[in-house]
Amino acid sequence: MYLGDYIVIERQIAPLRFECCSVSTGTPFTAEVDEDKRHLFSDRTWIDRHPPACRFLRPDGGLFHCTIHRDSPAQCKFYRCVVMRVLGSTGEQAGTITGTLALHSEDPVLRAAYKEAMRDIKDTDPDAEERLQEFLISRGFEIQ
Ligand code: SF4
Repeated sequence: MYLGDYIVIERQIAPLRFECCSVSTGTPFTAEVDEDKRHLFSDRTWIDRHPPACRFLRPDGGLFHCTIHRDSPAQCKFYRCVVMRVLGSTGEQAGTITGTLALHSEDPVLRAAYKEAMRDIKDTDPDAEERLQEFLISRGFEIQ
């Protein structure tokens, strides 16, 4: 079955487990939906309205989450699957955070704050996105 431009789900092997392929490199991987994101994954309202989006992406309030954060492929670090937009104090976009918590920014203040935050946060932590968001907000950034 074809599911989005970037990640293809080849086969569902259990209710929340899938054999997938990263299209850009042809790399196969197995993904299980993260335990803490199963309620998001089961809500198909948004994803059914956005066929081009990766099938594992889900909105939650103002944020988007990768629901296979633990198992998502390394290539996702370079993919423009934006889960957070980070705004500076004047409302300008300072950078973006993509699926596996990679920062894309030229802003030295944001880069320093991100580096500090990621000393304590592993990108495999189930609450990594929330912790990074809280840290950046505490440093005066706004998250969209
Ligand atoms: S980061 Fe997650 S949601 Fe984004 S493309 Fe990769 S697997 Fe899909």
